[in-house]
Amino acid sequence: MFMHEEESHIEKIEDYKVGQNEFILNWIGQTGYVIKTTEGTIVCIDPYYSNSIERYDGRPSRRMWYNKFIIENFHPDLVLCSHDHLDHTDPETLPLIYAFSDAKFYGPNSSYQHMKNMKMSDDRVKKLNLNNSYKYKDVEFKTVFANHTEDSMGFIFEINDITLYFTGDTSLDSKLYEYKNYNIDIMISCINGKYNNLNVSEAAELAERLEVKLVIPMHYGLVTDNTVNVNTFINLFKKENINHLVMDVEKNYYISKNENKILVDRKDYK
Ligand SMILES: [Zn+2]
Ligand SMILES: [Zn+2]
Repeated sequence: MFMHEEESHIEKIEDYKVGQNEFILNWIGQTGYVIKTTEGTIVCIDPYYSNSIERYDGRPSRRMWYNKFIIENFHPDLVLCSHDHLDHTDPETLPLIYAFSDAKFYGPNSSYQHMKNMKMSDDRVKKLNLNNSYKYKDVEFKTVFANHTEDSMGFIFEINDITLYFTGDTSLDSKLYEYKNYNIDIMISCINGKYNNLNVSEAAELAERLEVKLVIPMHYGLVTDNTVNVNTFINLFKKENINHLVMDVEKNYYISKNENKILVDRKDYK
């Protein structure tokens, strides 16, 4: 069992089977997630594998921990970037994924321009427009407004019959309340409360407005000067009685829906 705890599920994510009505969700830190669908499509959002913020921004923003997986063993089909900040469109992470996989790279114009500067070939990059729908293999998603940078965005995925909202970086804005129309099941929300992002109580406010069934916190615990104690989140969400899931990094969580309830299975025995 101890050996298993030392293992990253990311490197071998291609080998993990995904059933008919489920998908794998794996958190790789900050706002980075990997999704694997029933058909085996692997999508990666905002991978941040390096120490770029400290290196380029000069802030006291060293990583508190490093990923376990070896990036050359990671082969996503699609990489989505939500905006052009260093921990979301990372000039050190993206070229590595590009080199070691056949992934396509999508992002809003600001991210797209960075990708072009990284000399990615035209057939592997795509500019995302706001309020558009996209389909890549069996993954469907919409790009939605996020109040953060000029062209930052969130993503609303439809996977099987589950609607998953990734807020991206955003502050609380009444425009976000309109997403109630999407009947969101799961909201992955920033909680750091700095640099124009939702704090813990704003994330709770948004979750309640959208009547989501499950909230997963992100954007904490990685960068020294831009984090929040996750216990603040846990305490408030318990008090407000909002269903939530604090994920361990680099672990596969199998997500499904049954009779309108979201089910989460670690399947750690595998
Ligand atoms: Zn940002
Ligand atoms: Zn950020």
